[in-house]
Amino acid sequence: MSQFPNQNQFQIKLKKGICNSCGITSFLIEKKFNKELLCPQCFTERIEKTIQKTIIDYKMITPEDKAIVGLSGGKDSITLLYNLNQLSRKNLLKSIQALIIDEGIKDYRAKSIKVAISFCTKYNIPLKVISFKERVGKTLDEINAFFNKKDNRRYTCNYCATIRRRLLNEGAKELNGNVLAVGHNLTDFSETYLMNILYNRLQQIGRQYLFKKESEVIRKNYIKKVKPLVQIPEEEIHLYANIKKLKFYHSHCPYREEDPILRKKVLNFIQEMKNIFPEIEYNLFNSFNKLSKKLYVASQKPDNQKANICQNCGYPSGSAQLCTYCKLVQTLNE
Ligand code: SF4
Ligand SMILES: [Zn+2]
Ligand SMILES: [Zn+2]
Repeated sequence: MSQFPNQNQFQIKLKKGICNSCGITSFLIEKKFNKELLCPQCFTERIEKTIQKTIIDYKMITPEDKAIVGLSGGKDSITLLYNLNQLSRKNLLKSIQALIIDEGIKDYRAKSIKVAISFCTKYNIPLKVISFKERVGKTLDEINAFFNKKDNRRYTCNYCATIRRRLLNEGAKELNGNVLAVGHNLTDFSETYLMNILYNRLQQIGRQYLFKKESEVIRKNYIKKVKPLVQIPEEEIHLYANIKKLKFYHSHCPYREEDPILRKKVLNFIQEMKNIFPEIEYNLFNSFNKLSKKLYVASQKPDNQKANICQNCGYPSGSAQLCTYCKLVQTLNE
């Protein structure tokens, strides 16, 4: 059963028996969360249905949408692209294109891009690659070396996320997309939510409310961003991609190791808790939905609506004159 690697990492038990859904005798996957026993076929169908239900319940994508998928070559974005491509083939989406951001990370990104390109070629999905080098003049490795010489340097992920977020949005606009889909799964989501709680980032939680009505300035600048995998735990996506034999790139970005210790501890905490309380990530997601709604509604008071426009690019810039992206690019070119 090579499609079931490292099953001990999963919140899923494997055993032989009768599938609860279709009744065939097979190797079964037992989801610890609800003790349901499913054969691989029913398990993958369940994942696909969850993705489609998430898209409908949270009004993420409609059949008129031109979707752009942020593709890295990892299991999450490959699973997402595979599923949205299936929807596109059933005319549940107007079109689909993949967008790859090449940060310029030695011995890592070139390999994952190769996997991503071969996936798009196999499924005949158009794709565009945008690089940090071409857009901001430096690769992420060069940006890292640049800030190594400076005091008060931040984690490489901070610089990367600022540029990556902007380039994904710009790339999606250049491709005439109106929805940008990214592969964040339930485990990523739980980690971010818990981090936001621990750092008291309530504004951020309110801004992430899934049914929020964007302001005019946001609508003018940003493509709508959606996360159709947000209700599926990481280990289930891993297993899904393996059962479906989707080729993905396994390694992690080397800069992830630099991550603040708290982030790692939060992730470890979630993984540990999941072993005892398999429902914990779902509880976090439900708690997020309630809290983000309250915070979003509170933030709609007129006093909280003021935001500057970046003097350089026209994107919202909070209380500053320049947005974070323009400030970073300016520093890199000093
Ligand atoms: S782990 Fe950090 S540096 Fe690596 S791609 Fe993600 S955000 Fe960028
Ligand atoms: Zn079955
Ligand atoms: Zn700007």
